[in-house]
Amino acid sequence: MNSIKQIPKAEIHVHLEATISPELCRKFADRNNVEITEDLFEGEYAYSWDDFYDFIKKYDIITSVIHTPEDYRELTYAYLKECALTNVLYVEAMVSSTHAKQKGMTYHSFLEGVAEGAKQAEKDYGIVSKYIMNGIRHLGPESVHATAKEVLENPHPDLVGFGLAGDELHFPPKLFTKTFDMLKEAEFPITVHAGEWDGPEKIHDAISLLHPTRLGHGVRSIEDSSLVELIKDLDIVLETCPTSNIATKIYENYEEHPVKKLFDQNVKITVNSDDPPFFNASVAGEYEVMAGLGLSDDELMSLTKNAIQSAFCNQATKEKLLNKILNQ
Ligand SMILES: [Zn+2]
Repeated sequence: MNSIKQIPKAEIHVHLEATISPELCRKFADRNNVEITEDLFEGEYAYSWDDFYDFIKKYDIITSVIHTPEDYRELTYAYLKECALTNVLYVEAMVSSTHAKQKGMTYHSFLEGVAEGAKQAEKDYGIVSKYIMNGIRHLGPESVHATAKEVLENPHPDLVGFGLAGDELHFPPKLFTKTFDMLKEAEFPITVHAGEWDGPEKIHDAISLLHPTRLGHGVRSIEDSSLVELIKDLDIVLETCPTSNIATKIYENYEEHPVKKLFDQNVKITVNSDDPPFFNASVAGEYEVMAGLGLSDDELMSLTKNAIQSAFCNQATKEKLLNKILNQ
């Protein structure tokens, strides 16, 4: 009945700074007098990079062109507009105050830029969006703690959760328990990147030490059936990003990716674009991947429901979004 484009969609795992298109990257670089070299734009993806560590390096260079709240406003609006055109109803994007501060913005000024873009996109296209502040693992536990503390001390209506991103292999969950105990105590929603690069043992640690209700990726849980059962028992939702995992060579192709197996084992999954232009990914593209793996329209809709039900926005927003799905 539906084409993929018409199916209502939602996304809860995307890094806002990493949604920057080559066009905006060039525009901001010009505006902010940042020198970028043309070789960043060559190759298979919208940006060129070799392996994961080169990806992190290029990610830093490309996002370094974002300098002002106005840049954040424009970036937010552009991404939400693109999503809305493929019937994405809700986006929960991760943002980094660490990045904003490195460029001279304040916690409040960059969030206002994001909020302005979000408000305008909702007015123009009806798309709802909320934001998750990320702590960056490889900047160390103290940096992550300061980032979380600032969020708790300065609540913002659009900031609905806290996430942990960055180098999973060298910065394991046990380093961050103090921060995540504090967030749990404050009843602030938590998601943690786990089980993308590292295996089941670290996913176990992330669950038992950091109190997440969702896991970023989490796909390597498939390697341990008792862990899959635990994730189901605790009703933890996996924010899977199949195209991202294939681009970074964690899996060879979609057939080998565990996303369909996890779905078949009744794990609650969602599909997400992660860092869209870096992987030529999009929300609609991930739904298409799942259709290609055999999901029916109703099953694709169940992914949207999972995303909205596990979203960190308030109950009234969730109900409004769920009603919208039912009426489409
Ligand atoms: Zn991610």
